[in-house]
Amino acid sequence: MGLSIAYNLARRGLTDVVVLDRTYLCGGASGRNGGGIRAHWSSESNIRLMQESIRICEEFAREMKINVWFRQGGYLFLTRSEARKKGLEASVALQQRFGLRTELLTPEQARKIVPEIDLDGRTGNAVLAASYNPDDGVVFPWPFVWGYAQGAAKLGVEIMPHTDVVGFDTEPSSSGKARVRIKGVRTSRGLIETRRVVNAAGAWSPEVAKLVGIDLPNQPHRHEICASEPLKPWLKPLIADLDSGLYFSQSMRGEIVGGISNDDVPHGIDQGSSARFLGLYSKALVDVIPRLGHVKVLRQWAGCYDLTPDANPIVGPVDEVEGFENASGFMGHGFMMAPVMGRRLAEWLVDGKSTELLDKWNFRRFAEGKLLSEGMIIG
Ligand SMILES: Cc1cc2nc3c(=O)[nH]c(=O)nc-3n(C[C@H](O)[C@H](O)[C@H](O)COP(=O)(O)OP(=O)(O)OC[C@H]3O[C@@H](n4cnc5c(N)ncnc54)[C@H](O)[C@@H]3O)c2cc1C
Repeated sequence: MGLSIAYNLARRGLTDVVVLDRTYLCGGASGRNGGGIRAHWSSESNIRLMQESIRICEEFAREMKINVWFRQGGYLFLTRSEARKKGLEASVALQQRFGLRTELLTPEQARKIVPEIDLDGRTGNAVLAASYNPDDGVVFPWPFVWGYAQGAAKLGVEIMPHTDVVGFDTEPSSSGKARVRIKGVRTSRGLIETRRVVNAAGAWSPEVAKLVGIDLPNQPHRHEICASEPLKPWLKPLIADLDSGLYFSQSMRGEIVGGISNDDVPHGIDQGSSARFLGLYSKALVDVIPRLGHVKVLRQWAGCYDLTPDANPIVGPVDEVEGFENASGFMGHGFMMAPVMGRRLAEWLVDGKSTELLDKWNFRRFAEGKLLSEGMIIG
């Protein structure tokens, strides 16, 4: 997120920009995710912003001169409950209204796209409906991050990995709303004087905001994922089971890469792996595609989701502190959002041009009790 914002700021001529990261590029969730990119959502903001993000992804390799292994095999959502089926019908209607090629499918139609699916499910919960958008896809996350980093650096942005933000220098603000205004960022490598900062620290964003007295409601939550041995290409879409929280796709290298929701994991920063995850994931995976029971897991890792109370991000200025902008709370979909958010936030920061789509995601909504919703969160 931070690199995409910096790249887009530089493209708009603002090159006096520094990106700080406590670890290395790809050390956070952006280097640990499943690379899923979809416009297949249940809210207008997510649908419309992701349509734009997919268009950026389609041009990314050419623009950045880096192969990101972008493959548009679609997303296939499955549901096994009546309530979720209704939700899916409403989401598909909304997506079609905004011009997406999403279709609501019967279980049999879903099996035409992936003939290996077991519609009955070994646990007895049969698939009731599915939805498919052929334009969704998957990328390999690392070159995407490196592409933004290289692109930003070429335009004059300074990228400083292994540099920890440890505090902010502030002074009293003369604006009506704010308590203080930003004067500088204190880092493990010294002070950087600036009047403007963007908190794009993902699951660590509450920790960073706290340094200037802001209490964000986000909570980090460990999310595990794994990759199998490579197989001959056979699986076209990313499959997501809305009921179990399972998702998986086949990478361009042939691996089956996927994860599953696990509500038993306590909130908090934790990037460790567990045997329990492998059990949960493999049971759910084999339930959908029994044949995958023969495939071996090669690699397992984890990262942190950045959860907000209403499953929508927190974006834009924070009234209490002048010069402090937030771009976090992207749950398990901040990677796909980064291309469009970088573009839109750069416009906002340079020209002061916000849009209704982003305004909704303001920090004030929590104090005002104006919570939003999104029903197509997976993992
Ligand atoms: C297993 C898994 C699967 C996922 N699958 C998908 C998917 O398929 N599609 C999708 O779109 N999203 C997915 N996500 C979510 C996605 O990865 C994140 O939403 C996104 O990467 C967040 O990007 P970010 O830049 O906000 O945060 P991050 O990439 O986490 O970057 C935040 C950075 O801030 C740095 N930082 C923290 N504290 C400080 C400090 N004090 N000073 C300086 N730097 C600091 C960290 O080192 C880190 O590098 C997944 C996440 C996980 C964990």
